[in-house]
Amino acid sequence: MIHCIFCKIASGAIPCTKVWENKKYLAFLDINPITPGHTLLIPKKHHDYIFDMNDEEYNELMGIAKKLSVKIKKSMNSKKIGMMVEGFLVHHTHIHLIPLQKAGDLNTENAKKESPERLTVIAEKIKAGEI
Ligand SMILES: [Zn+2]
Repeated sequence: MIHCIFCKIASGAIPCTKVWENKKYLAFLDINPITPGHTLLIPKKHHDYIFDMNDEEYNELMGIAKKLSVKIKKSMNSKKIGMMVEGFLVHHTHIHLIPLQKAGDLNTENAKKESPERLTVIAEKIKAGEI
């Protein structure tokens, strides 16, 4: 998809603060995190609606979300990782993985721009964890 920002991120045409990737999937930090460590997990192949993905790809994506949640939770020292899927702003499947300390932390009104320097520090912390 030529005009899709996440396709451009997946191809490397637009930079991101990467925390993990393999051949088919990529995880990077949201530039407007709800809480520090807020990560986006995407398939590199363009899909709009997550529930239109075939079972194999959907299950792979969810399996990676689970593994990543362990890594993010540990490195961000959070109580839980919340998960959110919406997809109206960017029409390329993405799962938000958001470190939570308490009920109510999963609130998009708390999203605010983070500096690239701070994002890099957080990404390094998450990358250092095992998956
Ligand atoms: Zn796309």
